[in-house]
Amino acid sequence: MGAPEAFTATAEIGHYIDGRKVASTSGRRQPVFNPATGAVARQVALASQAEVNTAVAAAQAAFPAWADTPPLKRARVLNKFLQLLIEERDTLAAMLTAEHGKVFTDAQGEVTRGIEIVEFACGAPQLLKSAFTDQIGTGIDNWVLRQPLGVVAGITPFNFPVMVPMWMFPVAIACGNSFVLKPSERDPSASLFIAELFKRAGLPDGVFNVVQGDKLAVDALLEHPDVKAISFVGSTPIAHYIYETGARHGKRVQALGGAKNHMVVMPDADLEQSVDALIGAAYGSAGERCMAISVAVLVGDVADKIVPKLAERARSLKIKNGMELDAEMGPVITAAAQERIEGLIAKGAQEGAELVVDGRGHRVAGHEKGFFIGGTLFDRVTPEMTIYREEIFGPVLCCVRVPDFAAAVALVNANEFGNGVACFTRDGHVAREFARRIEVGMVGINVPIPVPMAWHGFGGWKKSLFGDTHAYGEEGVRFYTRQKSIMQRWPESTGKGAEFAMPTAK
Ligand code: NAD
Repeated sequence: MGAPEAFTATAEIGHYIDGRKVASTSGRRQPVFNPATGAVARQVALASQAEVNTAVAAAQAAFPAWADTPPLKRARVLNKFLQLLIEERDTLAAMLTAEHGKVFTDAQGEVTRGIEIVEFACGAPQLLKSAFTDQIGTGIDNWVLRQPLGVVAGITPFNFPVMVPMWMFPVAIACGNSFVLKPSERDPSASLFIAELFKRAGLPDGVFNVVQGDKLAVDALLEHPDVKAISFVGSTPIAHYIYETGARHGKRVQALGGAKNHMVVMPDADLEQSVDALIGAAYGSAGERCMAISVAVLVGDVADKIVPKLAERARSLKIKNGMELDAEMGPVITAAAQERIEGLIAKGAQEGAELVVDGRGHRVAGHEKGFFIGGTLFDRVTPEMTIYREEIFGPVLCCVRVPDFAAAVALVNANEFGNGVACFTRDGHVAREFARRIEVGMVGINVPIPVPMAWHGFGGWKKSLFGDTHAYGEEGVRFYTRQKSIMQRWPESTGKGAEFAMPTAK
């Protein structure tokens, strides 16, 4: 299978504003690579402030009519969009593999998980239903509306170029907002394709816009007075910056950050299942998932039994160009990421961790310039080591040995991140205690990557999320709407005379 022809061109990837593709005028651009070959595939435009302003103006102009469109009609557009996404799922997946590097089947899974949010957003009329109280006082009723905010923006990371934007814009648009997406500059093509599908689905021009870019574009969105809310997903330092800067400019902000996800393996856990779970969750997508398991917390005597099995599996991973259908793991995103991850592996060894499987210098025949790293396994990692403290975001699994369940919980709870966590056990009481005591936003019991379904909402705790609401689900609806309370009475039911005391029910 090859990448779609449209993708292999070396043209510039520009913006999508007011219902059409727009070539860049900034003169700024940067290369986009195919990580499997290491070759430059295209150039991506980097927007100027003026280009961002044009996109926001288009979104602002489209907002009133879209906000006034009945939710059912909005949902019908989303339904058409959903059908087109289903038809084009493999086209999008191939785009992801070609720019991100993840294996094609994983890319298909990513698109499917994104599509599920669109399915959720198609329920807009039901989602926007609100509460009404008849007769709060004699002849008086009170109800609430949830109204859209206006122009909202999404700033997204490289690791899920379809799914993460879809955590945001389907819900925002279903709620009646207009949207400006600033995708990752490392894998930007899918965003334009999505914009075209929206156009084909009948979305009015200006409701969904894309500006490609870097910090300059992000700052322009953060400071723009017409942008009412910012949804961000990316690394923790940038998430923190987005949260602070957006709030300073009076915006509603949800900023999801980095992660260091642990999987606790109890002595009674099914060993084979635990190995399968760790291998898939640590090395799937080359470890470039915010819910990847990067730390195995091995309780009691589990380590001696499981580490040899993990080592054998890590050594035999099928690492290839992701377009080869039997590939289990593809390359990492850039040469810089490869260098950074290999540097962290070196540091782990220097700081005294036991490097059981070393993935540095991994070469794939026929793809010698690709950004590949082999599956890497460390044992006897301790909490003060750099490889434990930092998010590696690569195919590196760190095993930490702990004596008992209490030590496992204490280790996880002391970590500054709190995105995802898992516990493998056959003991219901241990599972229950774990779920209740662990200070992490998303918990899996015998489920290594517990990404919540579309209607449950996604979000971590601690330095994995800045802001009050999780992404998508009902929390997403709350984020993209503001509540208005209306109290009403009619002349026929009005009492006589001015009231000077606090009104109470009569
Ligand atoms: P990143 O923080 O480098 O970039 C994310 C976005 O921020 C991009 O659109 C980028 O253009 C922009 N950006 C980068 N530097 C900026 C700056 N100085 N000022 C303003 N904007 C800037 O993240 P990434 O490398 O693209 O993605 C990987 C990170 O995202 C990992 O840390 C991963 O854990 C995290 N992530 C988190 C979740 C989650 O749900 N918590 C999901 C996916 C990814």
